[in-house]
Amino acid sequence: MKLQNYICGDWVEGQGQGAALTNPVNGEVLAYAGSEGVDLGAALAYARDQGRSGLQALNYGERAQLLESMAQVLQENREKYYQIAYQNSGNTKVDAAIDVDGGIGTLKYYAVMGKTLGDAHFLCEPGTDRLAKDKAFQALHILTPLTGVAIHINAFNFPSWGLWEKAAGSLLAGVPVFAKPATATSLLTQTMIRDLVNADILPNGSLSIICGGGHDLMDYVQTGDVVLFTGSADTAQKLRTHPRVIETGIRFNVEADSLNMALLAEDVTTDSPLFEAFVKEVAKEMTTKAGQKCTAIRRILVPAASIDAVADALTARLAKTVIGDPASDGVRMGPLVNRAQQQAAWEGIDILSREAEIIFGGDRQFAVQGGDVDSGCFVQPTLLRCNKPMNAERIHDTEVFGPVATLMPYSDEASIWALASFGGGSLAGSVFTNDEGFFARAAVTLAAHHGRLLMVDETVMNGHTGHGIAMPQCVHGGPGRAGGGEELGGLRGLRIYHQRTAIQANISQLENLRAATVDFSS
Ligand code: NAP
Repeated sequence: MKLQNYICGDWVEGQGQGAALTNPVNGEVLAYAGSEGVDLGAALAYARDQGRSGLQALNYGERAQLLESMAQVLQENREKYYQIAYQNSGNTKVDAAIDVDGGIGTLKYYAVMGKTLGDAHFLCEPGTDRLAKDKAFQALHILTPLTGVAIHINAFNFPSWGLWEKAAGSLLAGVPVFAKPATATSLLTQTMIRDLVNADILPNGSLSIICGGGHDLMDYVQTGDVVLFTGSADTAQKLRTHPRVIETGIRFNVEADSLNMALLAEDVTTDSPLFEAFVKEVAKEMTTKAGQKCTAIRRILVPAASIDAVADALTARLAKTVIGDPASDGVRMGPLVNRAQQQAAWEGIDILSREAEIIFGGDRQFAVQGGDVDSGCFVQPTLLRCNKPMNAERIHDTEVFGPVATLMPYSDEASIWALASFGGGSLAGSVFTNDEGFFARAAVTLAAHHGRLLMVDETVMNGHTGHGIAMPQCVHGGPGRAGGGEELGGLRGLRIYHQRTAIQANISQLENLRAATVDFSS
């Protein structure tokens, strides 16, 4: 099967054979994807013209209704998507739920939030600002939807959630979506978009997709467009420094890689329920989606006095994790997505091993259930231990995109703050503590290095949403090497799809403008 691209309101095939999409359990080729020869300039122009006018003729409430209808269609086809997530991504049922249901849930959430904006066509900030002696002359800040197209470039690990967590805000804002999923797992993204095209819910041009390489896509961006990129720091760097991106000054949001940390505080004794909750969360983060989550825990910071107990408890949990073909009963962790990712993970483990000792895993010939370790892209969960993390570098800057994490001791609070900062800016961090004083110090000190912090004490340890799960209510993104971008965060996520403009005028005119819309704070 050759995956087609949906552009200019039509399904078109790229030239040539395209890249093979495979089943990482056994290497079987599932489809080919290619965008060679596709007129990307025309595709973007169509989205800007047809998609934008169709979407922006509607108000926020009507566009929220579209999101609800889209979620309904996707919900009806959910089982099919689970099957593809298994076949093309090696997902277990739990992995597929995070991607598929996470995407549908985000659409539903934005449908509910969008309805609160009612029949407005633009937004305005609360209050006005006095500008001169004459009180009548004031300023009101309004937000109007962008005039271009939103180009959404995504990583291979979330072919569903990656698409919908970006598209929900974009479509609600009235900005058409041009989806560029990672080629390796584009089958799921393309199938979802095909189902929506067939359901004929959206105005023409609102949703386009190319299933192969990005080629010269950046050559055609225009002022009024926006790019939201998720992927590696290297690709982000290449694309955001593209001359056309610089020349047009378009917004370019980056969600890149991240050395996320989990911290066990000194007050948590090894016999306490919170200690157990910490170990459980770290093991879950290492193995869910075989560690292929940008938010997964990579660095585990524990008190020096507890490191042996943590190492033993984590090792015991990892040893119980059944790895293999997710279709086989009892399997809790599948393979990495393809050979290239498997190879990259092994190379990453080699780099970490220069500064840390492997205390569990790292074996390339381990037993897998219902599959063959040689024909599948399996990587054994691997735990490393670095006893001198303050003197190390690679454990703080090497993101191994697989089931791999490094355990490290700290001696005092100053070294916690230092070790946290060595990550260079992260998407997510978690802190396990019952100590209220430490909670407050950690939340404020670590916030500068993180986009999101999960703070767990015994009152929430059984009811939190998880270290690695990006909730649509909360912002997703992180400073520094995590890309410096920001997505989601409820209605805050609409900001990037709008132009904010200060209107300076007589206050009564400004109040007339305000009467036509709703207040929006971002
Ligand atoms: P990648 O190799 O950087 O690719 C990311 C995306 O960029 C893919 O869709 C890729 O397409 C596309 N791309 C490459 N060249 C392009 C061009 N010239 N024009 C337009 N698009 C182009 O990353 P990946 O291997 O898919 O993902 C793994 C990385 O993503 C990890 O580092 C992980 O930490 C990061 N990640 C971050 C987040 C987050 O939210 N911060 C979430 C998930 C993953 P092709 O596939 O066709 O090359």
